[in-house]
Amino acid sequence: MKRFLIAFFFLVLFGGASSVYALTYKPEKPFPGSPLLLEVPSGARKLLFLGKSFYPFSFKGKTFILAAIPLDTRPGLYRAELDGEEKLSFEIRIFPRRYPSERLTVPPKMIHYPPEVLARIKREVRLIRKTLAGFSPESLLDGPFVWPAAGRLSSPFGFRRIYNGVPKSPHSGLDIALPEGTPVKAANRGRVALTGDFYLNGKTVILDHGLGIYTIYCHLKKILVRRGELVEKGERLALSGKSGRVTGPHLHFGVYIRGVKVDPKVLLEVF
Ligand SMILES: [Zn+2]
Repeated sequence: MKRFLIAFFFLVLFGGASSVYALTYKPEKPFPGSPLLLEVPSGARKLLFLGKSFYPFSFKGKTFILAAIPLDTRPGLYRAELDGEEKLSFEIRIFPRRYPSERLTVPPKMIHYPPEVLARIKREVRLIRKTLAGFSPESLLDGPFVWPAAGRLSSPFGFRRIYNGVPKSPHSGLDIALPEGTPVKAANRGRVALTGDFYLNGKTVILDHGLGIYTIYCHLKKILVRRGELVEKGERLALSGKSGRVTGPHLHFGVYIRGVKVDPKVLLEVF
């Protein structure tokens, strides 16, 4: 295995006897919870990073790999291996990121569910998580991701509420405040992997974009697509609403790559 390494922040150069590869990635300073978009040589077949495999897709004659950094990753240097015509090994520095949090004191009744509701929530969370951790080998991606709707960001990715001293899991997506009935569009081309009406997430659509990349849209008022249907980027999926456990109408928009939740805002900025 050849191992020529010149790490230079986000630009990595590989020099062989006959060729030099430039490998770039975005964001320039990746962090826990960020997606990582790498432009790789055209012969690349697979990236091994943080114990997971990520696969290439092409766009405008270039080859890209979309990887993910879990929220609980410690900042530092991590080795990545790119498999292809030749093996390339390099390091990626993960930078620290502070996520906002908020401490709240609430009556215990508000954060404890009766057993039958809890059983339903657990069942639904398992189904949603399993769907988001799936893998379809064919990429359906059609270039850069687009916003599913335009509106004020009312709650960022990674935001953590601490109820009565107990931290809840960090916000798995971002919230866009929208008047009820606003069209919600597919962030990219994909196949409808799941639709349903869930206790916490309300009416929900999950799109499978291939290569283990998924987007999820929650708290909808009306779902306009069916499971198995192929939808184009920008096509209407649903109308926004306030279904499920919410305090007001908004769209919860989430992005998962190989089962890892990442900040959708960063994904929209890296292309
Ligand atoms: Zn949300």
